[in-house]
Amino acid sequence: MSSLPKGTAGSKDPATTRDRAVFLDRDGTLMENDGDLGDPSKVVLLPHVSQGLVSLRENGFKLIVVTNQGGVARGKYDEAAVVATHARLETLLCQATGLMCVIDAFYFCPFHPEGSVSEYRREHAWRKPSPGMLQAAALDHGIDLASSWIIGDQERDVQAGAAAGCRSILIGSPHGNSAADYFATHVNEAASRILQVDAPTVLASVVTLHAANPNVLNDKVLRSAITTAAESLAERSGVRLVSLEWSRQAVTATVQGGELIALGLAAELRRTTDRWWQVHGGSTPLWAGE
Ligand SMILES: [Mg+2]
Repeated sequence: MSSLPKGTAGSKDPATTRDRAVFLDRDGTLMENDGDLGDPSKVVLLPHVSQGLVSLRENGFKLIVVTNQGGVARGKYDEAAVVATHARLETLLCQATGLMCVIDAFYFCPFHPEGSVSEYRREHAWRKPSPGMLQAAALDHGIDLASSWIIGDQERDVQAGAAAGCRSILIGSPHGNSAADYFATHVNEAASRILQVDAPTVLASVVTLHAANPNVLNDKVLRSAITTAAESLAERSGVRLVSLEWSRQAVTATVQGGELIALGLAAELRRTTDRWWQVHGGSTPLWAGE
């Protein structure tokens, strides 16, 4: 059985009453953008983002976007366009996750020392790699920075996180020139890493699938197929599968995260393995009714 505490949300750092957060870079981390983007209609989510954000929220992390928007200083678009772009991003994230709210707050820095718009042409404490946005968010939202993380695709994200006292995950290949604590290929993998590292304080949930026929789960080949499917689904969706436990007629999965995470994984596992069962000669449904 899992050694994780069950039934305790663990949404707060035990050493403090303040919340934990995961700060998220925007461009190249949550959404596609290889240049200045101020047009809400052009927002495209990157793949492998949504399930990780659900997992982090389920485990009590606030999600806060911190993004340099030097395009404002360069006269490419205005602050209103940045706000509209963030509204569109939030809408797409809500659609992708099924949640009513995904991002708790958006912070952006419109300043740049080489901007063409005089009002915004200067260095600013909010511009990453400076930690100003993280520090402001910590004050605004009661966040304990030492219990928090930043995920970004540039070294300036890592540096901003380190300067604020957060741990960091760089989206990209590991390389020796980075000060990042960890590397990941996408946000789902980064979320999984965060929940793994902070495991003692995060919630675990349990869900059981009951087979339609007694003894069917004694079949070693079937058990192996279900195990492989569960591990693959968990990895793809950024969920940490803590354990699978077997009886003759049921399999119980323990996952890091809340009930929604566990139920989502179970539904996919049920669908995938039932299909496998039919293909391999099963004449009746593998699992008992919904
Ligand atoms: Mg970026």
